[in-house]
Amino acid sequence: MRRLTQLICIMLLALAATTTIAAPCLIVTLTGTQGGPSAYNGLAGSGTLVRYGDDSNHCNAVRLQFDAGRGTSMRLSQLELIPAQLHAVFFTHLHSDHVDGFADLVQMRWHFNPGSNKLDVVCSTDAKAASAHVMSCRNFTTHIGDAYLQSGEIAQRQTEDKTRAAAGPAASINLLAFAATDTAQVVWRSGELTVSAIRSTHIAGHASYRVDTPAGSVVIGGDAGNDTDAPPRLSSTSAQVEALAAGADIIVHSAIHPLMGPAAGSGMPAPIFYRQSTVTDLGSMAQRSGAKYLLLTHLIPPLGATRQGGWSVPGGSLTETHYRQAAQDGGFGGTVVVGTDLVSVRLPAK
Ligand SMILES: [Zn+2]
Repeated sequence: MRRLTQLICIMLLALAATTTIAAPCLIVTLTGTQGGPSAYNGLAGSGTLVRYGDDSNHCNAVRLQFDAGRGTSMRLSQLELIPAQLHAVFFTHLHSDHVDGFADLVQMRWHFNPGSNKLDVVCSTDAKAASAHVMSCRNFTTHIGDAYLQSGEIAQRQTEDKTRAAAGPAASINLLAFAATDTAQVVWRSGELTVSAIRSTHIAGHASYRVDTPAGSVVIGGDAGNDTDAPPRLSSTSAQVEALAAGADIIVHSAIHPLMGPAAGSGMPAPIFYRQSTVTDLGSMAQRSGAKYLLLTHLIPPLGATRQGGWSVPGGSLTETHYRQAAQDGGFGGTVVVGTDLVSVRLPAK
């Protein structure tokens, strides 16, 4: 009887240990924090990597890339990830600073991992702007390898490895386009993880995303701004992103500092300033949402820069303290992370 009791105790302890080891976890990493198409001080272009799993696999069973700006593959390499390990790429919108690194990602998959599964690419369906041009994720992905086809590289490298698709990297993309609306919809899932999307305003076809997992949730706002494109308005932030972020643990959002506004004389055209969310308004929105973390990314201007592309930074360069203070001025009482490349937040925190 005593032996049986001991055996049961050992089994219960083993079960408890297994349960502890398998605790779910989520890691959100900024793969690039440059705001806009200019290049500054080696920053990679906009992107966020979300990894989910449990302690036994270092939160690394599902790997999702949100936007893929310049240098994304380089930042992934610093995390010891190769493009073929991504399960899906999501685009908030098709500005070059959010997609510049995508050709590199898919070309590397085509080159080194021609036998891997197709890459899910999730983005809005074609969206017609008021000025009649069309933002087309379908065209973008369909033609992503055209320059390499035209240069002859695809044909040349195919002679070295016949398993590489003759059609180039576009052949390994599985496009999952959705019609973005003001109501969140699930656009991708893997087991207990879901990704939802909602329409948001910046340029035509812009969408924001939310990842929900048993370890927590994260919203990736992208460059979203308010539907009302200039003051007077209650906020520069997006009402749809705010709805999406209700109860989320982490908000990752592009941020512009208020001093780049028309009043301070940066020279930035008002419409370009107004289509972003200000740091202060993001602080207010994050507080209303109940978020624990606000990750500021795509910083305009970058930390330490005296210029943002062709425009000046009034009063000189900004520090991390300036950005943190601006978010706190908005009333945010949680943790502000002023984004630098490869900064991460883990849930649960260690
Ligand atoms: Zn941008």
